[in-house]
Amino acid sequence: MRDPDCIFCKIVAGELPSTIVDEGERTITFMDIAPATHGHALVVPRDHSSDLLEIDAEDLAAVGVASQRLAARMKQRLGADGVNLMNSCGAIAFQTVFHFHMHVIPRYEGDSLRLPWVPAAGDPDEIAAAAQELGGG
Ligand code: AMP
Ligand code: ZN
Repeated sequence: MRDPDCIFCKIVAGELPSTIVDEGERTITFMDIAPATHGHALVVPRDHSSDLLEIDAEDLAAVGVASQRLAARMKQRLGADGVNLMNSCGAIAFQTVFHFHMHVIPRYEGDSLRLPWVPAAGDPDEIAAAAQELGGG
């Protein structure tokens, strides 16, 4: 339910300041203190889970619904041209706060964000090998 050392648990409990913009039965949404763009916010489950592999499926669904709700508001109220959802699972994947959170990042024509990889055609055999491992049960 709660990790005593977790900053997002403290935000959920109201023990650390935050700018909350949406609340649901299972989630809260607050502004990121280091925004990638104007309006960047985080949707978190009220119950502690460290990452994508740990989060309860119903909490994950609730995070998805709250993220969609916020994305619509970003377009309507902030004039966003698009929205990125981003989640990092594990330190290697850029995760720094180990309470699951979905970044909801409004995008604007001409903003400075760029893809973190360079798209290039992959090796078909390597793609097929990965698919073989990933497919099935
Ligand atoms: P990640 O690197 O995906 O784990 O993202 C963690 C995010 O949490 C970063 O974008 C931070 O700017 C943000 N963050 C850290 N501490 C706070 C805080 N006290 N209030 C709001 N956002 C925070
Ligand atoms: Zn937590």
